[in-house]
Amino acid sequence: MRDGFPDFRLGSVLATSFTGTLSERHGNAVERIPTPQRLVDWLTVSGLAVDSCTTAQLDLARELRESIHAAATAAATQDTLPAAAVQVINDRSLQGRAAAVLTPEGRRRWHLRSASSVEDALSVIAADAISIIAGERDGRLALCASPTCRATFFDTSQSRTRKWCDMNTCGNRQKKARFIANRSSGGRAGS
Ligand SMILES: [Zn+2]
Repeated sequence: MRDGFPDFRLGSVLATSFTGTLSERHGNAVERIPTPQRLVDWLTVSGLAVDSCTTAQLDLARELRESIHAAATAAATQDTLPAAAVQVINDRSLQGRAAAVLTPEGRRRWHLRSASSVEDALSVIAADAISIIAGERDGRLALCASPTCRATFFDTSQSRTRKWCDMNTCGNRQKKARFIANRSSGGRAGS
């Protein structure tokens, strides 16, 4: 927690880290970007630093987030992509202007047109989502096995058998629940 706000769950994939800023969508939902400043914080730790954010820009961000979640969920379950979600992702991708630059250390960094342009940052996230949903990257889109979560995540494990969006939260909770269930049924507490 920082300033009483829920922590971020940061993964290695930008688009699904972003959809993870709302968790437990099917339980007691936790909003991790409840204020414009928290979106600024999230963008900063995600390599897309901006100076400021308005409530209208936060609304745009959340709309993009839920659209990515909807499209990624459809892709993970081999459903037809929802047209409205595709539209939002494309609009955000088209609206921003960001350029990849190479640092002297050989890393990629995103250069936004201006430090106040949340739209530029959102375009990078939208493009990242497009590359995953389009199946361009090595990995598998999947849904978290936790029934209260069902977050989309990008499985890059060798076996492609990852079950949870996050091992430290959903994975652990599931393990603990199984342990308690096993104990109360007199069964062996295992695995
Ligand atoms: Zn999960």
